[in-house]
Order: sequence, then C-alpha cells, then structure tokens
Amino acid sequence: MRKYNLPIFIPHRGCPHDCAFCSQKKITGIDTDVTPAEVRELIKNFLKTIDLKSSSVEVAFFGGSFTGLKKELQEEFLKVAKEFKPQISGIRLSTRPDCIDGEILDLLEEYGVTTVELGVQSSDDAVLEMNDRGHSFDDVKKASELIKDRGIALGHQMMLGMYASTPEKDLKTVKDIIALAPDCVRIYPVLTLKGTKLERLFENGEYKPYSIEKAAELAKKARLMFRDADIEVIRIGLHSSEDLEDGETIVAGPYHPAFGEIVEGLVFRDIMEKKLLDEGTESGKLVFYADKSDVSKAVGHKKANKIYFREKYNTELCVLAKD
Ligand code: SF4
Repeated sequence: MRKYNLPIFIPHRGCPHDCAFCSQKKITGIDTDVTPAEVRELIKNFLKTIDLKSSSVEVAFFGGSFTGLKKELQEEFLKVAKEFKPQISGIRLSTRPDCIDGEILDLLEEYGVTTVELGVQSSDDAVLEMNDRGHSFDDVKKASELIKDRGIALGHQMMLGMYASTPEKDLKTVKDIIALAPDCVRIYPVLTLKGTKLERLFENGEYKPYSIEKAAELAKKARLMFRDADIEVIRIGLHSSEDLEDGETIVAGPYHPAFGEIVEGLVFRDIMEKKLLDEGTESGKLVFYADKSDVSKAVGHKKANKIYFREKYNTELCVLAKD
C-alpha cells in the first residue's frame, strides 16, 4: 500500500505569535489564505491522480496553528476533509502546544483527526521566551498528555540552533521529547530568514547560526537517540522550495536542499565505522549490507561515505543490498 500525504498549507493563520525565526509564508512558499472551497478542490483533484485501491492518503493541514483558528473555520476545514473519508485514511494537523485543550480535542475527535503535531522547538523555557514562542515546555507536556489520552497520534517538531540555545540544550530537548514518547518527530535546523527578528539579531552579531556540518552532526545524534527510543523521525530539514532558494529569503544558517540525506549518511557512517573498528577489514574493503532502500543513504550524499573511508582508513566501502 503506497502512502500519500497531501499537505495543505495555512500559513500563519491561527497564529497568535510572531516567533523570532518564523516566516511561514516563505517556508511554505504560499502567501495567500486558502479557503475551505479550495481545499475541497485540492483533495478532489489529488484523489483523481492516484489509484485508491493500492494507496492510502492522509490530508495534512500544515504551516500555521490550526487549532488557533476560529472554531467555525476549523470546523469548515475539517468538514471538507471528512467528506472524503473513507477515501482518505487520516487527517493530520500541526499546531502550538498552548492551542490544545479538552474542547479543541472534542472537535478534532468529532471530525476524525488522526495525528496532531506540536511545535515544541525547545524544552528550555528561557530559549522559548527569547524566541518569542509565547508558551513554556510545561504547555508541551500538558498538550502531549491530552492528545495521547484521546488516542490521537502525537508528533513533535523540534529545532536545532535556536537563538540562545546551545548543542547541549538541543540534545536535552531530544531527551525531554523522548520522555514524552511522541509517535513521531521532525527535526529542523534553524534558518535565519529575511524579515524576522532573528535576522536583526544575526545582523547585530547577537545570533550565530550553526554551520551545516555542526547542524548535521547534531541532527545525527538526535536521530540516533530517537532511534534508540523507538521514535520515528519523519523529517529532517525543510523541504526545498523555490522561495527558499531564491537567494534572498535565507539570510544565513545551515540550509542544504539534501540536509536530511546528509544526516542519514552520517548515521550510516557511524554504524559502518563501528563495524570497521570492531571487526577490521578484509583486503582493504569494508563490505556493508543495507536494505535496498537504504543503499544510497549508506553510500552517503555525493558518495561522501565512500570518500570518508578511503581518505581516513584507506579502505574501499562496498554497500550491497540485502536479499
Ligand atoms: S507558532 Fe508557528 S506559525 Fe506561529 S509564528 Fe511561531 S513558528 Fe510561526
């Protein structure tokens, strides 16, 4: 069964805040407000393009703070999505931790919302405050419990390299998220976007973004910690878009269109390096078997891992697909 996620972006709508790093319209590449009628057309047209017998589709409201929208508007959007059940298998949405309570969850349950993703970003209250998040980590804990109590799948989104954060605080956030046992996680390195408070802090020299290498190394550690805790990481790094790559939107920060791929390559590099150091090599070759879908990750972005083992260990890396 092929799984599809149909993202519907509602940039900044429902959001009572202006977080220091946020420019949703640039991130999503959309700067107009979508209407329920347009959502209906989007879903209808998408369903025409796939074979429903062999596919499952989840409609995902992303980009703003869905449950911060007026109740009537939330209902209108959810009603439209529900019209397409059972052709669509689930409804997913992202929101702020302080926009979740019992009444809101009653509504989400009524319309069959299957997953709620919370923007956690950091577990450090001082970092949250300095980035104008407008909520505390305690709000994350409360919202997470409420969502799980309803049997709705829980997602957490976290950031690496926020203003006033450190690698230690970022990894503490990973640990604190693991303690709340979400079903899935997204990891985003912070980018300095045009027109944000972060841009001003960067220009003043008060904010120093991570390099790609530093962000990728931290994301790798986070990825491994979540893996050990059996928590699925469903995204690392922003999706590339024309807006992000227009040469103006990103002022600074660790942007790479293949950031997730780079991180996955580092994860495999760690595993293979351990194998090499534990077991040694036969005739200067390191043979590694990976699932078919993981072969390119093990080889690394632009063959980075092959080059790494050749240069560091004078060893030829051969990644073979498992039968
Ligand atoms: S809560 Fe989310 S959408 Fe709203 S400003 Fe902050 S990051 Fe942007």
